[in-house]
Amino acid sequence: MCAFMRLKIVQAGEAVLRQSAKPLSMADIQSQRIQDLIEFMRETMHDAPGVGLAAPQVGQSLQLAVIEDKPEYTKDSPSNFLKERERRPVAFHAIINPKISLDEGSDVEFFEGCLSLQGFTAVVPRARKVTVECLDHKGEPRIIQASGWYARILQHEIDHLHGALYIDRMITRTFMGMENFNRYWKDKPMAEVEKSIRWKR
Ligand code: ZN
Repeated sequence: MCAFMRLKIVQAGEAVLRQSAKPLSMADIQSQRIQDLIEFMRETMHDAPGVGLAAPQVGQSLQLAVIEDKPEYTKDSPSNFLKERERRPVAFHAIINPKISLDEGSDVEFFEGCLSLQGFTAVVPRARKVTVECLDHKGEPRIIQASGWYARILQHEIDHLHGALYIDRMITRTFMGMENFNRYWKDKPMAEVEKSIRWKR
């Protein structure tokens, strides 16, 4: 089997991104087809590059996502930027059939993007802490307790498995193209962004 295979990432407008994905059985998880899919999704995510990729984004309506936040992605980011986002590296792993519970009342707001909405970004409120019960790539049960950026990634990817995109949750006033984001907002503390774009009353 080819070791490096990049899958096509579908863009918003494809019905598969709006469907509820199908849970995997233990036999599915252990099948060569799913083991290959996990490997191909890993390669596709690295190539993009992205920190998460859900199976519906590669046209497969399955309850499966891969996540990895490599240290190299943030090596040039200022430490106050990483600290504000509580962003720390996360090792590669797959989540299968996840159930998420959010720590209510702990919402934090940051810009977020999606490989299926190429070229855009918006501020999305997300819970700061979550607990996820899922299976790993071998079908072993796992409980993940996550906070900060990792919690955001989990919420974003699990949304994909239920047919939701960040644009369903975003603060619409903050939606913009990456070009203007990089030009004006990228390095600003969120309090300053909020003052300029004014989404709180
Ligand atoms: Zn996405």
